[in-house]
Amino acid sequence: MGSLSAWAQDDGTRREPVLDADHKPPRVVRCAGWRKCMRCGRLFWSDDVQRLHLCAWNGGNPECRTRNDDDGI
Ligand SMILES: [Zn+2]
Repeated sequence: MGSLSAWAQDDGTRREPVLDADHKPPRVVRCAGWRKCMRCGRLFWSDDVQRLHLCAWNGGNPECRTRNDDDGI
């Protein structure tokens, strides 16, 4: 699986496709980017902006996404 490192925080406008490099030819599996948390409005880095709608902030701040899974709830 490909991965992207976070770019400088923007307003959530930039979206970049993440490619599955193991697939020939490579295919887009998801899109990454900054997005606003649906619950608290905080910008957070999302590896999958289609699925992850709630923040899971690292570093001691409260986070809205409490379950450590992929469904974004
Ligand atoms: Zn949040």
